[in-house]
Amino acid sequence: MLRERHGSSSSLSGRTERKGGHPGPCHRVRHLFTSLPPDRANWCRHSARLRTVAPTRRHILNTRRHRLDRRRPRFDNRPVPTLLAVIAHPDDESYSFGGTLALAAQAGWRCHVLSLTSGEGGKRNDGGPDGQVQVGLARERELASSCTILGVEPPKFWRLPDGYLREHAPQTARLGSVIEDQRPDLVLSLGPDGAYGHPDHIAVFHWLFEVWRAAPDPRPPLLLAAFPLGLFLPQYQKCLSMMGEPPSPAPNEIGSAAWDYDVPIAAIAATKHAAIAAHRSQLPGGQPDALFPAGIVSKLLEVERFGDARGARDLRVASLLASLTGPAPDAGSR
Ligand SMILES: [Zn+2]
Repeated sequence: MLRERHGSSSSLSGRTERKGGHPGPCHRVRHLFTSLPPDRANWCRHSARLRTVAPTRRHILNTRRHRLDRRRPRFDNRPVPTLLAVIAHPDDESYSFGGTLALAAQAGWRCHVLSLTSGEGGKRNDGGPDGQVQVGLARERELASSCTILGVEPPKFWRLPDGYLREHAPQTARLGSVIEDQRPDLVLSLGPDGAYGHPDHIAVFHWLFEVWRAAPDPRPPLLLAAFPLGLFLPQYQKCLSMMGEPPSPAPNEIGSAAWDYDVPIAAIAATKHAAIAAHRSQLPGGQPDALFPAGIVSKLLEVERFGDARGARDLRVASLLASLTGPAPDAGSR
């Protein structure tokens, strides 16, 4: 954000300059009015040029923006960690890592959620209009509510076609730009099993992993939600028609036997549950526990687990996550 603000600030100031090497209005008025009394001849704080006329509204806005940018700490010693969660659909953030997002927001982190689709392909259960445009709008509102409940920034949407990410052009360059601009301290997403094999989830994983793998150091840690082995098999069975023949991933690839980080979330389970409930259009009977087949949601309210894309636990990441909950328990079997 800092880089964007600097960029927009300089482009605004650039518009005050003339083409063809003309020194620009500030230099011109200094040359013409050097005899003006001191109270009418002062330096423009934004353009660092002499201003001899009353400041315009743009001067005032640019000057304020420039002051704010100078006060804001640089990326290298930012006191506030930033977290970026990249998901395929509204609701993925809530059941996958809603607890971690809520804890991070509670700790003062700046948390962003990027949803690559609006979830317009989802079956609607709340009795609202079921055209794709209406469903997409409803689900965008639901994700915004979920983010409010979790205490994170309003979500961003790329509005790619829900259900067709596997066939869509890879979004690696665009994702790379987001990461380069935001410089997050952590990136969260679903893993190679797509939680329950959903092709959109898996496509997002592949794009994000490719961006992360190719990024120069220091690259942000990429943490992938790791669910208990078999937990999502009932949901996997419901989604089999999307996975081809034979289905990919295979049933024994659903869930993780090893992971690198545990984030205990029982203390904030009610917040996570409320975030799941915010996705009302996707809940049969309006019940959060009905988002998935019986027994799954309750298991997601105890602990959130993550694998590190590096394939190994990183002590700095473990320490960062531990700062959210106090001393962390031992990691899993990896
Ligand atoms: Zn999803």
